[in-house]
Amino acid sequence: MQVMTAVLPASTDVLVVGAGPAGSAAAAWLARAGTDVLLADMAVFPRDKTCGDGLTPRAVGELTRLGLADWLRAHTVNRGLRAHGFGQTLELPWPGAGFPDWGSAVPRTELDDHLRDVAIKSGANAIDGYKAVEVRWSGDRVAGVVFRAPDRTKHEVRCRRLVVADGVRSPLGKVLGRSWHRDTVYGVAGRSYIRSTRSDDPWISSHLELRDEQGSVLSGYGWIFPLGSAGGGPGEVNLGAGTLATAKRPAEVAIKPLMRLYAEQCRAEFGLEGELRAEASALLPMGGAVSGVAGRNWALIGDAAGCVNPLNGEGIDYGLETGRMIAGVLTEGAGPEDLGVIWPALLREHYGEAFSIARRLAGIATNPRLVAALGPVGMRSDLLMTLALRWMGNLVTDEDRDRAARVWRWAGRRSLAHDHRPLFS
Ligand SMILES: Cc1cc2nc3c(=O)[nH]c(=O)nc-3n(C[C@H](O)[C@H](O)[C@H](O)COP(=O)(O)OP(=O)(O)OC[C@H]3O[C@@H](n4cnc5c(N)ncnc54)[C@H](O)[C@@H]3O)c2cc1C
Repeated sequence: MQVMTAVLPASTDVLVVGAGPAGSAAAAWLARAGTDVLLADMAVFPRDKTCGDGLTPRAVGELTRLGLADWLRAHTVNRGLRAHGFGQTLELPWPGAGFPDWGSAVPRTELDDHLRDVAIKSGANAIDGYKAVEVRWSGDRVAGVVFRAPDRTKHEVRCRRLVVADGVRSPLGKVLGRSWHRDTVYGVAGRSYIRSTRSDDPWISSHLELRDEQGSVLSGYGWIFPLGSAGGGPGEVNLGAGTLATAKRPAEVAIKPLMRLYAEQCRAEFGLEGELRAEASALLPMGGAVSGVAGRNWALIGDAAGCVNPLNGEGIDYGLETGRMIAGVLTEGAGPEDLGVIWPALLREHYGEAFSIARRLAGIATNPRLVAALGPVGMRSDLLMTLALRWMGNLVTDEDRDRAARVWRWAGRRSLAHDHRPLFS
């Protein structure tokens, strides 16, 4: 049953603010479990989101759970990562293991609109063009959220539980007390679109040797993610570049000029045609470097909770996963709930080890001299890069028993024990 809400209802059981992958997944799973849920977003859909549009096997797994495998396959399918740099090119198939052995890429304007539709078709109420601006409290519980309508009038929606999926800046999260710690490594990244004769390439490409105009190695990487050519003629690729930074070591590179330079370096090899379009850049809090992720009856998910992999910048998968996880918590109905305790503990259980070691390694990679020294060593070894692909993509499940998985989990546990500030706190 599809429910389109033209006006805000006065109340709902669960209010989800933000209809990106995290919010739409939460709303879809909640509605499928029979919960009364309202999915609200300040943007009018379809809307763009600055992103590389890459869907690694972790995201494909989650989209498959939602019933979208065939829809994805009709877009584009890739079989792994082609890593370029330091004089080498390696084709590294997705490892499979506990995840699908294929990836995809879908422009966010289309992906997010479709995911929001899936939530609506699952039974969620939805409204767009309404910005959440204030919170109403009843003791330590959120009792409602005030929205500003397109005509600037204010409307309150009462709710029993609140899920905040309002993205990287998380304005509603801030009202609730969320803060992001920039002393932990974060990303600065930009993306663009450009026509390419290789838009059907079955590999996504990453250039691990990213150089500035003076030829110095930067800490970061460039990517070219083929988007397919379903419309006929040369289709497009998503072309972008990202670098890592910390408060102590801020990114000293202008992302958009870097992207243009990178495009020129790749133009001939990747059959790039014309100019970059829709250039945009954004910051990326990563690895759970956020405190205040939950209170008595509210929780932050996705980017709002800093659920982005520090080693590859992907967060669509973690948004989808945390959306499903919070829906599970809210529909389990076990005893008197206190999300302020349950939610950060669950995030740490799922992501603690992987995010802790990943952000430690990413912190090291903010040093360009180390990248220049270690990059060539890694790129000389197929085996090392295959391991790196699996680890960097966090393509390890708790069930995996092979040596690579055991080493990754062991390193994660050691890293966690040495963290000066626990993740998600
Ligand atoms: C340049 C770049 C490249 C990236 N590449 C990749 C990639 O290739 N693969 C990958 O997996 N990840 C990538 N990421 C990360 C990915 O984009 C995010 O992790 C992902 O979008 C998180 O989803 P989300 O649902 O948490 O937030 P979002 O997708 O940001 O959605 C948040 C929603 O909240 C709404 N909102 C915000 N404030 C309010 C408010 N006050 N009231 C109502 N609504 C509100 C917004 O309109 C938005 O629709 C990239 C990020 C960047 C910056």
